[in-house]
Order: sequence, then C-alpha cells, then structure tokens
Amino acid sequence: MICPYCKKPAEFMSSVDFYGHDYKTNLYVCLPCDARVGTHGRGKTPLGTMANSNLRSLRKECHRRFDVRWKTGKVSRSKAYQQLAEMMNLPSEKAHIGMFDKVQCTKLLSLIPKERNYMSNLAAMAQKLLAEGFDPKTSPVDNYEKLPEGIYDVVLSDVKWVVNENSGSERLQLDLDILNDGFENRKHLGMIFFSEKMMERALKQTMKCAAVLDIDLDPTVFGSPETDLVEAFKEALGVQCEMEIKHQKNSDFVNFSLSEPEA
Ligand SMILES: [Zn+2]
Repeated sequence: MICPYCKKPAEFMSSVDFYGHDYKTNLYVCLPCDARVGTHGRGKTPLGTMANSNLRSLRKECHRRFDVRWKTGKVSRSKAYQQLAEMMNLPSEKAHIGMFDKVQCTKLLSLIPKERNYMSNLAAMAQKLLAEGFDPKTSPVDNYEKLPEGIYDVVLSDVKWVVNENSGSERLQLDLDILNDGFENRKHLGMIFFSEKMMERALKQTMKCAAVLDIDLDPTVFGSPETDLVEAFKEALGVQCEMEIKHQKNSDFVNFSLSEPEA
C-alpha cells in the first residue's frame, strides 16, 4: 500500500506492534505522515484507505452522524448504506466512510447536519408524548387545562406503568375518558405516584381504585407493577365509574378519586 500523502510505501504491522495491544488486526502505517488504515482481522485486506489524523477525525464524525440512522433501527444497515451511496452519488462498493477523502467527508457532514441527531431525539420525544397519552386529535398543545372540581362519569380506557427516566419517578396511570356533556373527548390521566415518601398512600389509592373497578387485586401484583399490576387493571378496561376531582392548593396538580356510581 502506498501512502496517499507522501506516495511512499506504507509499513505493514500488527496491532500489537503499533498500539502495544492486540486488537486482532493489522495496519498499514506511514509514520512520517501519521497516516494509517486497519485491516479486516489479521488479514492483509485494508478496511479503507489510509488516513492522517485530520481525515481520521472527519471520518469518525461522519460515522457518528451516519450510524445513528441504522443504529436506532429507523432503517436497516443495508438500507442506510444504500442511502449513503445515493446521497454521495457513489457506487455502493465505494460508499464506505473508511474510503472517503476529506472532500467526501465534508460533503457527507453537510448532508447530515448535526441537527439530525437532534431530530432523532425529537422522534423519540414524539413517541414518548404519544405513549404518555397525548392525543393529537383531542389534546390541547398546552398542558391539560385543569378539570373543574366535581364528580364525573368516566370509563377506564387505558392503563400504563410509567417510569420517568429523568426524575426516576414511577407511577400508575389510569386513562379515564370523561363521559359528561361538555367534556367530550377529554380524558383525565389519573396518576398514582409511587414515590418513596408516598408509597403507602399510593398502595392504598391503587387498591381503592381497583376495588371500585371491581378488580380482585392480589397484593403480589405489586411485586412487578409494570406487568402484573397493569395486567390486573386491564381486566377493567371499559368499566365505568365515578371520578371526583379536587384541586390542590398552590399547585397545578389535581387529586382524583374513584367511586362506584350511585345506583
Ligand atoms: Zn506518508
């Protein structure tokens, strides 16, 4: 292999000789140019073309931005590489970042701006909103306007165990569709927070809700709330009951409690 910078033959050496550590590969190295390329395993076939430090960091950044596309599972790896070939206007056998030169790396970086990563966060955020009950047809953009205090007829429409990765808080969430006139398409997300301080209260509240919904709650379901407790509540999907809403002082949070409808 000829060093593309100084046009002199590169040295072939093992990773042990070069790094002092066995990465189970070999390398072609030009020490004066600080240029190198690794091989497939312990063979002689290079992974791409030789790169100096500047090109190596450009390729690294290219990988960082490009790999997101298939590593997040949005598209398959082969589909992502097919897209790469199209974007770069290259035949598929040349569409490998390890073969890119400086100009090609710069082109790819301009085609996949950093924001792409941000966009994939947005995609995750959008999925989270939907998972948490945001209904694009009916939910307001701003947080739910507080439901006025009072008693509502509701139907249990969904049950979730929600773990907030940021705060570490966990909650049981009962989606309660409101049936009263004037509240069409409104639902109340009845949240029971299982925080350390309020564990006992949360247990009591959960058991009370279950009783109202006619669920025979075995205490062992609290051992695996994310599956067993949710399963138990799902038995009551479609069950109607009454919900009382009380506002909390100095807080946007509303308390909810369920009761059996009066006959
Ligand atoms: Zn060289």
